[in-house]
Amino acid sequence: MQEEIIVIGAGMAGLAAATTLQEAGKPVRILEGRNRIGGRTYTDDSLGATVDLGAAWIHGPIGNPLTPLAHRFQVQMGETYFDDESGTSVQVFDAEGQRLDAKAYVQGMLAYAAAMEHIAASVLYKPPPDAHSLADLYAGGLPGENELTPTQRAGFDYSAQIRAQFVDAADVTENDWRLTREYLHLPGGDLYLYGGGYKRIVDGLAADLPIELETTVTQIEYDAGGARVTTNRGTILCDKVIVTVPLGVLKANKIQFAPALPAPKQQAIARLGMGNYDKIALKFPYRFWPQEPQRFQYVNESGICSAWLNVAHYKDAPVLINYHAGSRAQFVNRLRDEEYLDRALEVLRLMFKCDVPAPVAMVRTNWENDPFALGSYSFQKVGCEVEDRQRLAAPIDNRLFFAGEATHPHYFATVHGAYETGVRAAREVMGICEAKG
Ligand SMILES: Cc1cc2nc3c(=O)[nH]c(=O)nc-3n(C[C@H](O)[C@H](O)[C@H](O)COP(=O)(O)OP(=O)(O)OC[C@H]3O[C@@H](n4cnc5c(N)ncnc54)[C@H](O)[C@@H]3O)c2cc1C
Repeated sequence: MQEEIIVIGAGMAGLAAATTLQEAGKPVRILEGRNRIGGRTYTDDSLGATVDLGAAWIHGPIGNPLTPLAHRFQVQMGETYFDDESGTSVQVFDAEGQRLDAKAYVQGMLAYAAAMEHIAASVLYKPPPDAHSLADLYAGGLPGENELTPTQRAGFDYSAQIRAQFVDAADVTENDWRLTREYLHLPGGDLYLYGGGYKRIVDGLAADLPIELETTVTQIEYDAGGARVTTNRGTILCDKVIVTVPLGVLKANKIQFAPALPAPKQQAIARLGMGNYDKIALKFPYRFWPQEPQRFQYVNESGICSAWLNVAHYKDAPVLINYHAGSRAQFVNRLRDEEYLDRALEVLRLMFKCDVPAPVAMVRTNWENDPFALGSYSFQKVGCEVEDRQRLAAPIDNRLFFAGEATHPHYFATVHGAYETGVRAAREVMGICEAKG
Protein backbone atom coordinates (compact mmCIF):
# COMPACT_ATOMS: atom_id res chain seq x y z
CA MET A 1 0.00 0.00 0.00
CA GLN A 2 2.03 2.89 -1.33
CA GLU A 3 0.34 5.82 0.50
CA GLU A 4 1.44 4.29 3.74
CA ILE A 5 3.83 6.04 6.12
CA ILE A 6 6.41 3.76 7.68
CA VAL A 7 7.82 4.65 11.08
CA ILE A 8 11.08 2.86 11.93
CA GLY A 9 11.41 2.21 15.65
CA ALA A 10 8.83 1.80 18.44
CA GLY A 11 10.64 3.91 21.04
CA MET A 12 9.06 7.10 22.36
CA ALA A 13 9.77 9.08 19.19
CA GLY A 14 8.28 6.41 16.93
CA LEU A 15 5.21 5.95 19.12
CA ALA A 16 4.62 9.70 19.30
CA ALA A 17 4.97 10.04 15.53
CA ALA A 18 2.64 7.14 14.78
CA THR A 19 0.04 8.28 17.33
CA THR A 20 0.02 11.77 15.84
CA LEU A 21 -0.40 10.42 12.32
CA GLN A 22 -3.04 7.90 13.30
CA GLU A 23 -5.06 10.56 15.14
CA ALA A 24 -4.99 12.59 11.91
CA GLY A 25 -6.35 9.60 9.99
CA LYS A 26 -3.12 8.80 8.15
CA PRO A 27 -2.21 5.19 7.26
CA VAL A 28 0.81 4.37 9.41
CA ARG A 29 2.75 1.27 10.37
CA ILE A 30 5.69 0.86 12.77
CA LEU A 31 8.59 -1.51 12.09
CA GLU A 32 10.51 -2.45 15.24
CA GLY A 33 13.68 -4.55 15.24
CA ARG A 34 13.42 -5.82 18.81
CA ASN A 35 10.86 -8.28 20.17
CA ARG A 36 9.51 -5.51 22.42
CA ILE A 37 8.50 -1.89 22.16
CA GLY A 38 9.81 1.07 24.19
CA GLY A 39 13.40 1.26 22.91
CA ARG A 40 15.56 2.97 25.50
CA THR A 41 12.69 2.89 27.96
CA TYR A 42 12.65 -0.68 29.25
CA THR A 43 10.82 -1.57 32.42
CA ASP A 44 11.82 -4.75 34.23
CA ASP A 45 9.49 -6.35 36.79
CA SER A 46 11.50 -9.50 37.48
CA LEU A 47 12.85 -8.25 40.83
CA GLY A 48 9.41 -7.71 42.32
CA ALA A 49 9.63 -3.94 41.91
CA THR A 50 9.48 -1.64 38.94
CA VAL A 51 13.03 -1.18 37.67
CA ASP A 52 13.45 1.00 34.63
CA LEU A 53 16.64 -0.15 32.94
CA GLY A 54 16.61 2.74 30.50
CA ALA A 55 14.95 6.05 31.31
CA ALA A 56 13.51 6.13 34.84
CA TRP A 57 12.76 9.79 35.57
CA ILE A 58 10.66 12.52 34.04
CA HIS A 59 13.19 15.31 34.09
CA GLY A 60 11.31 18.55 34.68
CA PRO A 61 7.65 17.52 35.01
CA ILE A 62 6.23 21.05 34.69
CA GLY A 63 5.28 21.73 31.09
CA ASN A 64 6.52 18.27 30.14
CA PRO A 65 4.37 16.38 27.61
CA LEU A 66 5.00 13.14 29.51
CA THR A 67 3.42 14.33 32.76
CA PRO A 68 -0.19 14.22 31.50
CA LEU A 69 0.54 10.85 29.88
CA ALA A 70 1.91 9.49 33.16
CA HIS A 71 -1.28 10.61 34.92
CA ARG A 72 -3.49 9.25 32.13
CA PHE A 73 -1.82 5.84 32.29
CA GLN A 74 -1.67 5.88 36.10
CA VAL A 75 2.03 5.62 36.74
CA GLN A 76 3.03 6.13 40.36
CA MET A 77 5.76 8.73 40.70
CA GLY A 78 7.92 10.10 43.49
CA GLU A 79 10.43 12.90 43.61
CA THR A 80 14.17 12.38 43.62
CA TYR A 81 15.95 15.37 45.09
CA PHE A 82 19.41 15.34 43.56
CA ASP A 83 20.31 18.75 45.03
CA ASP A 84 18.33 18.73 48.27
CA GLU A 85 19.97 21.34 50.49
CA SER A 86 18.61 19.77 53.67
CA GLY A 87 20.91 16.79 53.07
CA THR A 88 18.15 14.30 54.00
CA SER A 89 17.66 12.74 50.55
CA VAL A 90 21.11 11.25 50.32
CA GLN A 91 23.52 9.49 52.67
CA VAL A 92 27.16 10.04 51.79
CA PHE A 93 30.12 7.88 52.83
CA ASP A 94 33.84 8.35 52.36
CA ALA A 95 36.14 5.64 50.98
CA GLU A 96 36.47 4.05 54.46
CA GLY A 97 32.72 4.01 54.91
CA GLN A 98 32.52 6.94 57.36
CA ARG A 99 29.37 9.05 57.05
CA LEU A 100 29.97 12.53 55.65
CA ASP A 101 27.82 15.55 56.40
CA ALA A 102 25.34 15.27 53.54
CA LYS A 103 24.30 18.91 53.91
CA ALA A 104 27.88 20.09 53.35
CA TYR A 105 28.27 17.61 50.53
CA VAL A 106 25.18 18.96 48.73
CA GLN A 107 26.44 22.52 49.33
CA GLY A 108 29.53 21.45 47.38
CA MET A 109 27.33 20.13 44.57
CA LEU A 110 25.47 23.44 44.49
CA ALA A 111 28.79 25.32 44.48
CA TYR A 112 29.69 23.44 41.30
CA ALA A 113 26.33 24.39 39.73
CA ALA A 114 26.95 28.00 40.74
CA ALA A 115 30.46 27.91 39.26
CA MET A 116 29.08 26.71 35.93
CA GLU A 117 26.38 29.40 35.93
CA HIS A 118 29.00 31.99 36.73
CA ILE A 119 31.21 30.79 33.89
CA ALA A 120 28.32 31.07 31.46
CA ALA A 121 27.03 34.44 32.58
CA SER A 122 29.68 36.47 34.36
CA VAL A 123 31.38 39.30 32.50
CA LEU A 124 34.39 38.82 34.77
CA TYR A 125 35.13 35.18 34.07
CA LYS A 126 37.38 34.36 31.12
CA PRO A 127 37.69 30.68 30.15
CA PRO A 128 41.16 29.36 29.43
CA PRO A 129 42.04 29.92 25.77
CA ASP A 130 41.36 26.79 23.69
CA ALA A 131 39.16 25.22 26.36
CA HIS A 132 36.87 22.91 24.42
CA SER A 133 36.00 20.09 26.79
CA LEU A 134 34.74 20.33 30.35
CA ALA A 135 38.11 18.91 31.42
CA ASP A 136 39.91 21.78 29.62
CA LEU A 137 37.67 24.21 31.48
CA TYR A 138 38.33 22.57 34.85
CA ALA A 139 42.07 22.74 34.17
CA GLY A 140 41.85 26.53 34.32
CA GLY A 141 40.25 26.37 37.78
CA LEU A 142 36.56 26.90 38.57
CA PRO A 143 35.16 29.92 40.42
CA GLY A 144 34.85 29.29 44.14
CA GLU A 145 36.50 25.87 44.16
CA ASN A 146 39.22 26.92 46.59
CA GLU A 147 36.78 28.17 49.22
CA LEU A 148 35.28 24.80 50.10
CA THR A 149 35.59 22.55 53.14
CA PRO A 150 36.84 19.01 52.41
CA THR A 151 33.27 17.60 52.46
CA GLN A 152 31.95 20.41 50.28
CA ARG A 153 34.87 19.74 47.97
CA ALA A 154 33.86 16.05 47.76
CA GLY A 155 30.37 17.13 46.61
CA PHE A 156 31.85 19.64 44.20
CA ASP A 157 34.12 16.98 42.67
CA TYR A 158 31.29 14.47 42.46
CA SER A 159 29.23 16.96 40.43
CA ALA A 160 32.19 17.95 38.28
CA GLN A 161 33.27 14.43 37.42
CA ILE A 162 30.66 11.74 38.04
CA ARG A 163 27.41 13.63 37.89
CA ALA A 164 28.58 15.44 34.76
CA GLN A 165 29.15 11.97 33.35
CA PHE A 166 25.53 11.00 34.07
CA VAL A 167 24.15 14.19 32.58
CA ASP A 168 26.03 13.73 29.33
CA ALA A 169 26.70 9.97 29.42
CA ALA A 170 30.28 10.84 28.54
CA ASP A 171 33.59 11.72 30.15
CA VAL A 172 34.44 15.32 30.88
CA THR A 173 37.29 15.07 28.36
CA GLU A 174 34.72 14.46 25.60
CA ASN A 175 32.03 17.05 26.33
CA ASP A 176 32.03 20.42 24.64
CA TRP A 177 31.44 22.63 27.69
CA ARG A 178 29.81 25.45 25.69
CA LEU A 179 27.48 23.27 23.62
CA THR A 180 26.41 21.24 26.64
CA ARG A 181 24.57 24.40 27.64
CA GLU A 182 22.23 23.99 24.66
CA TYR A 183 20.40 21.44 26.82
CA LEU A 184 17.48 23.21 28.50
CA HIS A 185 15.90 22.04 31.75
CA LEU A 186 12.18 22.04 32.32
CA PRO A 187 11.21 23.06 35.87
CA GLY A 188 9.85 20.87 38.65
CA GLY A 189 12.77 18.62 39.60
CA ASP A 190 12.90 14.91 38.78
CA LEU A 191 10.03 12.44 39.08
CA TYR A 192 10.94 8.79 39.50
CA LEU A 193 8.45 6.39 37.89
CA TYR A 194 8.32 3.60 40.44
CA GLY A 195 4.85 2.17 39.98
CA GLY A 196 4.55 0.64 36.53
CA GLY A 197 7.39 2.67 35.09
CA TYR A 198 7.78 3.92 31.56
CA LYS A 199 6.22 0.67 30.29
CA ARG A 200 2.79 1.96 31.26
CA ILE A 201 3.18 5.08 29.13
CA VAL A 202 4.68 3.14 26.25
CA ASP A 203 2.01 0.43 26.34
CA GLY A 204 -0.72 3.04 26.67
CA LEU A 205 0.49 4.95 23.62
CA ALA A 206 0.99 1.77 21.59
CA ALA A 207 -2.37 0.16 22.38
CA ASP A 208 -4.00 0.84 19.02
CA LEU A 209 -0.95 1.17 16.79
CA PRO A 210 0.00 -1.37 14.12
CA ILE A 211 3.49 -2.47 15.18
CA GLU A 212 5.53 -5.24 13.60
CA LEU A 213 8.10 -6.59 16.04
CA GLU A 214 11.35 -8.37 15.10
CA THR A 215 11.37 -6.46 11.85
CA THR A 216 14.81 -4.98 11.36
CA VAL A 217 15.28 -2.39 8.64
CA THR A 218 18.52 -2.76 6.70
CA GLN A 219 18.00 -0.48 3.70
CA ILE A 220 15.91 2.50 2.61
CA GLU A 221 15.80 3.43 -1.07
CA TYR A 222 13.97 6.61 -1.99
CA ASP A 223 13.23 8.68 -5.09
CA ALA A 224 10.52 10.92 -6.52
CA GLY A 225 8.10 7.98 -6.75
CA GLY A 226 8.25 6.76 -3.14
CA ALA A 227 10.36 4.74 -0.77
CA ARG A 228 11.33 1.09 -0.55
CA VAL A 229 12.16 -0.25 2.90
CA THR A 230 14.09 -3.53 3.12
CA THR A 231 13.77 -5.60 6.28
CA ASN A 232 14.70 -9.10 7.45
CA ARG A 233 11.09 -10.02 6.64
CA GLY A 234 10.86 -8.60 3.15
CA THR A 235 10.43 -5.30 1.35
CA ILE A 236 7.76 -2.64 1.83
CA LEU A 237 6.84 0.10 -0.64
CA CYS A 238 5.54 3.26 0.96
CA ASP A 239 5.06 6.98 0.50
CA LYS A 240 7.12 8.40 3.38
CA VAL A 241 9.44 7.08 6.06
CA ILE A 242 10.10 8.43 9.55
CA VAL A 243 13.45 7.17 10.84
CA THR A 244 13.68 7.18 14.66
CA VAL A 245 16.56 4.76 15.23
CA PRO A 246 19.20 5.88 17.77
CA LEU A 247 22.23 7.92 16.76
CA GLY A 248 24.42 4.89 17.60
CA VAL A 249 22.59 2.83 14.96
CA LEU A 250 23.04 5.57 12.37
CA LYS A 251 26.72 5.92 13.27
CA ALA A 252 27.26 2.20 12.72
CA ASN A 253 25.59 2.38 9.26
CA LYS A 254 23.17 -0.37 10.22
CA ILE A 255 20.75 1.06 7.66
CA GLN A 256 21.96 1.67 4.10
CA PHE A 257 20.39 4.71 2.44
CA ALA A 258 20.13 4.91 -1.35
CA PRO A 259 20.87 7.54 -2.43
CA ALA A 260 23.29 8.16 0.44
CA LEU A 261 22.29 10.69 3.10
CA PRO A 262 23.31 14.27 2.28
CA ALA A 263 26.81 15.21 3.42
CA PRO A 264 25.68 17.65 6.18
CA LYS A 265 23.57 14.92 7.78
CA GLN A 266 26.38 12.38 7.54
CA GLN A 267 28.77 14.88 9.13
CA ALA A 268 26.32 15.59 11.94
CA ILE A 269 25.98 11.84 12.59
CA ALA A 270 29.75 11.50 12.74
CA ARG A 271 30.32 14.57 14.96
CA LEU A 272 27.61 14.19 17.61
CA GLY A 273 28.54 11.88 20.47
CA MET A 274 26.72 8.75 21.61
CA GLY A 275 27.39 8.16 25.29
CA ASN A 276 27.17 5.35 27.81
CA TYR A 277 25.10 4.96 30.96
CA ASP A 278 24.32 1.59 32.49
CA LYS A 279 22.50 0.25 35.51
CA ILE A 280 22.79 -2.81 37.71
CA ALA A 281 19.77 -3.66 39.84
CA LEU A 282 20.35 -5.96 42.83
CA LYS A 283 17.62 -7.71 44.75
CA PHE A 284 18.59 -8.91 48.25
CA PRO A 285 16.80 -11.44 50.46
CA TYR A 286 16.02 -8.61 52.87
CA ARG A 287 16.73 -4.91 53.25
CA PHE A 288 19.85 -4.22 55.34
CA TRP A 289 20.05 -0.50 54.59
CA PRO A 290 17.89 2.41 55.76
CA GLN A 291 14.64 2.99 53.93
CA GLU A 292 14.44 6.79 54.19
CA PRO A 293 17.16 8.19 51.91
CA GLN A 294 16.52 8.24 48.20
CA ARG A 295 20.15 7.70 47.32
CA PHE A 296 23.49 6.57 48.70
CA GLN A 297 26.78 8.00 47.63
CA TYR A 298 30.12 6.27 48.14
CA VAL A 299 32.95 8.74 47.60
CA ASN A 300 35.90 6.79 46.25
CA GLU A 301 38.63 7.67 43.81
CA SER A 302 37.61 5.29 41.03
CA GLY A 303 33.96 6.33 41.06
CA ILE A 304 33.01 2.66 40.60
CA CYS A 305 30.03 1.50 42.69
CA SER A 306 29.65 5.07 43.87
CA ALA A 307 26.04 5.99 42.96
CA TRP A 308 23.09 4.01 44.35
CA LEU A 309 19.36 4.52 44.10
CA ASN A 310 17.34 3.18 47.01
CA VAL A 311 14.26 1.57 45.42
CA ALA A 312 13.02 0.74 48.93
CA HIS A 313 12.45 4.46 49.50
CA TYR A 314 9.75 4.41 46.82
CA LYS A 315 8.42 0.88 47.07
CA ASP A 316 8.95 -1.51 49.94
CA ALA A 317 11.27 -3.86 48.07
CA PRO A 318 14.86 -4.89 48.96
CA VAL A 319 16.29 -3.55 45.70
CA LEU A 320 19.21 -1.20 45.05
CA ILE A 321 20.23 0.18 41.67
CA ASN A 322 23.87 1.02 41.05
CA TYR A 323 24.65 3.13 38.02
CA HIS A 324 27.70 4.29 36.05
CA ALA A 325 28.24 6.48 33.02
CA GLY A 326 30.89 7.32 30.46
CA SER A 327 34.07 5.23 30.60
CA ARG A 328 33.06 3.99 34.08
CA ALA A 329 30.01 2.34 32.51
CA GLN A 330 32.21 0.80 29.83
CA PHE A 331 34.60 -0.47 32.50
CA VAL A 332 31.80 -2.04 34.55
CA ASN A 333 30.24 -3.56 31.44
CA ARG A 334 33.44 -5.52 30.94
CA LEU A 335 33.36 -7.01 34.46
CA ARG A 336 31.98 -10.49 34.89
CA ASP A 337 29.07 -10.78 37.35
CA GLU A 338 31.34 -12.19 40.10
CA GLU A 339 33.93 -9.44 39.58
CA TYR A 340 31.31 -6.74 39.78
CA LEU A 341 29.66 -8.30 42.84
CA ASP A 342 32.98 -8.53 44.70
CA ARG A 343 33.34 -4.77 44.37
CA ALA A 344 29.70 -3.89 44.94
CA LEU A 345 29.22 -6.01 48.06
CA GLU A 346 32.44 -4.66 49.57
CA VAL A 347 31.15 -1.10 49.08
CA LEU A 348 27.81 -2.02 50.64
CA ARG A 349 29.61 -3.62 53.62
CA LEU A 350 31.68 -0.48 54.12
CA MET A 351 28.64 1.78 53.90
CA PHE A 352 26.20 -0.20 56.03
CA LYS A 353 28.63 -1.98 58.39
CA CYS A 354 26.79 -5.27 58.49
CA ASP A 355 26.89 -8.72 56.95
CA VAL A 356 25.77 -8.20 53.39
CA PRO A 357 23.93 -11.21 52.00
CA ALA A 358 24.47 -12.31 48.41
CA PRO A 359 21.79 -10.87 46.15
CA VAL A 360 19.06 -13.27 45.10
CA ALA A 361 18.80 -11.71 41.65
CA MET A 362 20.61 -9.19 39.50
CA VAL A 363 19.73 -7.41 36.28
CA ARG A 364 22.43 -5.59 34.27
CA THR A 365 22.22 -3.42 31.20
CA ASN A 366 24.72 -3.08 28.41
CA TRP A 367 23.28 -0.42 26.12
CA GLU A 368 26.63 0.06 24.47
CA ASN A 369 26.51 -3.41 22.95
CA ASP A 370 22.77 -3.58 22.34
CA PRO A 371 22.57 -3.68 18.52
CA PHE A 372 19.37 -1.60 18.54
CA ALA A 373 20.86 1.19 20.65
CA LEU A 374 24.68 1.09 20.43
CA GLY A 375 24.92 3.55 23.29
CA SER A 376 22.67 5.23 25.83
CA TYR A 377 22.01 8.76 24.64
CA SER A 378 23.57 11.49 22.56
CA PHE A 379 25.86 14.23 23.85
CA GLN A 380 27.56 17.38 22.61
CA LYS A 381 30.92 15.96 21.69
CA VAL A 382 33.96 18.17 21.22
CA GLY A 383 34.08 18.90 17.50
CA CYS A 384 30.33 18.95 16.89
CA GLU A 385 28.52 22.11 15.83
CA VAL A 386 25.48 23.75 17.36
CA GLU A 387 23.48 23.17 14.15
CA ASP A 388 24.26 19.44 14.01
CA ARG A 389 21.04 18.36 15.69
CA GLN A 390 18.96 20.35 13.20
CA ARG A 391 21.01 18.81 10.38
CA LEU A 392 20.22 15.40 11.78
CA ALA A 393 16.52 16.31 12.00
CA ALA A 394 16.22 17.79 8.50
CA PRO A 395 13.82 15.91 6.17
CA ILE A 396 15.04 14.75 2.76
CA ASP A 397 12.99 15.43 -0.40
CA ASN A 398 9.72 15.35 1.55
CA ARG A 399 10.28 11.57 1.59
CA LEU A 400 12.49 10.76 4.57
CA PHE A 401 11.91 12.31 7.99
CA PHE A 402 14.01 12.02 11.12
CA ALA A 403 13.05 11.90 14.79
CA GLY A 404 14.57 10.60 18.02
CA GLU A 405 16.18 12.22 21.05
CA ALA A 406 19.38 13.13 19.19
CA THR A 407 17.41 15.31 16.76
CA HIS A 408 16.11 17.61 19.50
CA PRO A 409 18.05 20.89 19.73
CA HIS A 410 17.37 21.40 23.47
CA TYR A 411 15.78 18.33 25.09
CA PHE A 412 18.19 15.76 23.65
CA ALA A 413 19.03 12.73 25.83
CA THR A 414 15.52 12.61 27.30
CA VAL A 415 12.24 10.82 26.76
CA HIS A 416 10.27 14.06 26.48
CA GLY A 417 12.75 15.22 23.85
CA ALA A 418 12.20 11.99 21.90
CA TYR A 419 8.44 12.42 22.24
CA GLU A 420 8.50 15.98 20.92
CA THR A 421 10.60 15.02 17.90
CA GLY A 422 8.15 12.26 17.00
CA VAL A 423 5.25 14.71 17.00
CA ARG A 424 7.38 17.20 15.03
CA ALA A 425 8.28 14.60 12.36
CA ALA A 426 4.62 13.56 12.02
CA ARG A 427 3.65 17.20 11.50
CA GLU A 428 6.38 17.57 8.88
CA VAL A 429 4.97 14.54 7.06
CA MET A 430 1.56 16.20 7.08
CA GLY A 431 3.07 19.48 5.92
CA ILE A 432 2.05 21.44 9.00
CA CYS A 433 5.44 22.07 10.54
CA GLU A 434 8.98 22.66 9.40
CA ALA A 435 12.11 21.53 11.21
CA LYS A 436 13.32 24.30 13.54
CA GLY A 437 16.34 25.71 11.80
C1 LIG B 1 20.29 3.93 31.03
C2 LIG B 1 19.49 5.11 30.50
C3 LIG B 1 18.92 5.98 31.39
C4 LIG B 1 18.16 7.06 30.93
N1 LIG B 1 17.52 7.86 31.84
C5 LIG B 1 16.65 8.78 31.39
C6 LIG B 1 15.76 9.40 32.30
O1 LIG B 1 15.75 9.10 33.50
N2 LIG B 1 14.90 10.34 31.80
C7 LIG B 1 14.86 10.66 30.48
O2 LIG B 1 14.08 11.53 30.10
N3 LIG B 1 15.66 10.03 29.59
C8 LIG B 1 16.54 9.09 30.00
N4 LIG B 1 17.28 8.37 29.12
C9 LIG B 1 17.22 8.73 27.69
C10 LIG B 1 15.93 8.21 27.04
O3 LIG B 1 15.74 6.86 27.38
C11 LIG B 1 16.04 8.33 25.52
O4 LIG B 1 16.41 9.65 25.17
C12 LIG B 1 14.72 8.03 24.81
O5 LIG B 1 14.07 6.90 25.35
C13 LIG B 1 15.01 7.80 23.33
O6 LIG B 1 13.83 7.55 22.60
P1 LIG B 1 13.91 7.41 21.02
O7 LIG B 1 12.56 7.09 20.54
O8 LIG B 1 14.64 8.57 20.47
O9 LIG B 1 14.89 6.16 20.77
P2 LIG B 1 14.70 4.64 21.18
O10 LIG B 1 13.90 4.53 22.41
O11 LIG B 1 16.04 4.03 21.18
O12 LIG B 1 13.82 4.05 19.98
C14 LIG B 1 14.37 3.68 18.76
C15 LIG B 1 13.78 2.34 18.35
O13 LIG B 1 14.34 1.95 17.08
C16 LIG B 1 14.52 0.54 17.09
N5 LIG B 1 15.50 0.20 16.07
C17 LIG B 1 16.83 0.42 16.07
N6 LIG B 1 17.38 -0.01 14.90
C18 LIG B 1 16.37 -0.49 14.16
C19 LIG B 1 16.29 -1.08 12.86
N7 LIG B 1 17.38 -1.21 12.08
N8 LIG B 1 15.09 -1.50 12.41
C20 LIG B 1 13.96 -1.38 13.17
N9 LIG B 1 13.97 -0.83 14.41
C21 LIG B 1 15.17 -0.39 14.89
C22 LIG B 1 14.99 0.26 18.50
O14 LIG B 1 14.84 -1.09 18.86
C23 LIG B 1 14.13 1.22 19.33
O15 LIG B 1 12.94 0.59 19.77
C24 LIG B 1 18.02 7.28 29.54
C25 LIG B 1 18.60 6.38 28.64
C26 LIG B 1 19.32 5.30 29.11
C27 LIG B 1 19.89 4.30 28.13
